[in-house]
Amino acid sequence: MTNRPMPSATTDHERQYWQRVADGDVCIVRCHACGSASHPPRRYCPVCYSDDWTFESITGTGTVYGHTCIHRPTRTFEADAPLVSAIVTLDEGPRLMGQVDCDPAAIEVGRRVCLDTSTLSSDDVRLVFELQE
Ligand SMILES: [Zn+2]
Repeated sequence: MTNRPMPSATTDHERQYWQRVADGDVCIVRCHACGSASHPPRRYCPVCYSDDWTFESITGTGTVYGHTCIHRPTRTFEADAPLVSAIVTLDEGPRLMGQVDCDPAAIEVGRRVCLDTSTLSSDDVRLVFELQE
């Protein structure tokens, strides 16, 4: 058990999403009406407003779109400082935010990253990426 803050799901699809993340299956949403992929899951497709969509597992690989380094995080994350946080463009298209487990000097826009799903559990659903060579 950790003292990490957990997301509070308020809808069925949010509960399903966070349960999948806790099980190590991070996913995006694929719209059946227009084919677009999106993240995070919403009741309606952000492109065509259809409610006909399904979860789709991701490969976990992507490219750093932007990043920052948090030298003084909140008390809960003090042990992780300096904490590298990035927006990653997944190979499937949508962008999501996560932590990158690396030296802050090593990260840059355009670097390839891979999601580490081995740390995901019902007690810790932080998305942590690792730099790829
Ligand atoms: Zn759509």
